Amino acid sequence: MTYPTQPTASHFIDGEYVEDTAGTPIDVIYPATGEVIGRLHSATPAIIEKALTAARRAQAEWAKMSGMERGRILRRAADLMRERNHELSVLETYDTGKPYQETSVADATSAADALEYFGGMAATLTGQHIQLGENWVYTRREPLGVCVGIGAWNYPTQIACWKGAPAMACGNAMVFKPSETTPLCALKVAEILVEAGLPKGVYNVVQGLGDVGAALVTDPRVDKVSLTGSVLTGKKVYAAAAAGMKHVTMELGGKSPLLVFDDAHLDNAVGGAILGNFYSSGQVCSNGTRVFVQKGIKDAFLNRLSERLERAVIGDPMDPATSFGPMVSQRQMEIVEGYIAKGIEDGARLVCGGSRLNRDGFWLQPTVFADVTDDMTIAREEIFGPVMAVLDFDSEEEVMLRANATEFGLSAGVFTSDMTRAHRVVAGFEAGSCFINSYNDAPVEAPFGGVKMSGVGRENSSAAIEHYSQLKSVFVRMTDVEAPY
Ligand code: NAD
Repeated sequence: MTYPTQPTASHFIDGEYVEDTAGTPIDVIYPATGEVIGRLHSATPAIIEKALTAARRAQAEWAKMSGMERGRILRRAADLMRERNHELSVLETYDTGKPYQETSVADATSAADALEYFGGMAATLTGQHIQLGENWVYTRREPLGVCVGIGAWNYPTQIACWKGAPAMACGNAMVFKPSETTPLCALKVAEILVEAGLPKGVYNVVQGLGDVGAALVTDPRVDKVSLTGSVLTGKKVYAAAAAGMKHVTMELGGKSPLLVFDDAHLDNAVGGAILGNFYSSGQVCSNGTRVFVQKGIKDAFLNRLSERLERAVIGDPMDPATSFGPMVSQRQMEIVEGYIAKGIEDGARLVCGGSRLNRDGFWLQPTVFADVTDDMTIAREEIFGPVMAVLDFDSEEEVMLRANATEFGLSAGVFTSDMTRAHRVVAGFEAGSCFINSYNDAPVEAPFGGVKMSGVGRENSSAAIEHYSQLKSVFVRMTDVEAPY
């Protein structure tokens, strides 16, 4: 099968495509059909060496350019991404299986937003002047050096830019390793950046599994690691980075609560729960997968939810009418099926879905369980698939304790028409990204990231600059030095 914008080799290093067929083959599988649509190769030690050498060299020159010059290149890349949104969205759909209806509005567009936002910010990055009588201190905001980005498979274009854009705006170089499940999109990002004028070697892409990620993280030439992935991987990467005292950003998993009070606008609450559980077939880290519904509205909520799920258009992801696509891989489909079986075994009530679809590819029905209790596996563990757990509650006090009783802390949401309660509830949430009468909005202007086991650091917004730069302070004495002897 051929598809538009097919990359010509596995890696993109020092401004060009590079191949080394000695690396372990990585098959690219189109999730909607299960067909192999490409074969790439994992990075060999020689490829890793080439990428890090190029990044190190390029970073020194890139950091010497003014913020204005760097920003102009990033903004040009944003424009190119928007111009090519259609072909990039088609590629994203081949990589992930997500419907074109989603990819055409949420992936290259979000990546372009990051390039534009941080491109605009590059010229504004400054240090500080601190007057101390006649003497003074100034601070220089300096890049960290070479940053490694490691991606998950759910948003390959977006993740490549959410990490790359702030890193490059601050004058760093990046070596990005996409998930082995979705290796295609980041290559296009690298290609477009070079076309926009990015000096060779500033943004490089190498393919591979966890071993390639681990080799990058432990290399002494790497100054910072930004991972999007599971908590399990996060712990390993954080520990490896700590051994080299490297900066980290960890965007990890979640099991986020979504609270629906009796006074909520029913259709908005149902819409929020649908977006927060079934967008991208549920493969979104911030999803509100524990939907706590107050008892007075429970039946109405479940009825309306079932009605609206009937309207999901499940089919060819390339058809713009399709609103629900496949799981990313056979493995992920099997993991989610295991959780569905566990939900049934633990006594949750299956309201909708629960089965595989009888077609090629990795298809699962949107699934809703009701009468879920806090101790059930489906209420405790991240499923990362289209499985919503609906739990009942009586009081605000009770639900807040239960909502926070998790090791995760990525996101949390509340639907209510009582604004005083809404703000009190979000103040009490142990989560990094919260929503009032909405769910899963992620504008580049707002900080994004988790607390507790869901991660450290923030992506997007001016907060990201703190994670891709460091301050050097310079004391300037204007008076004589008074030494004691
Ligand atoms: P994963 O943890 O299996 O893999 C993530 C990446 O880490 C992959 O590129 C993988 O090759 C790499 N990796 C694995 N072991 C490594 C090691 N020892 N050293 C270095 N790199 C290593 O995650 P996944 O299955 O690709 O993605 C799903 C997970 O990602 C979910 O838990 C989800 O919640 C999380 N996620 C979080 C966010 C967020 O922003 N917080 C966004 C998307 C996904």
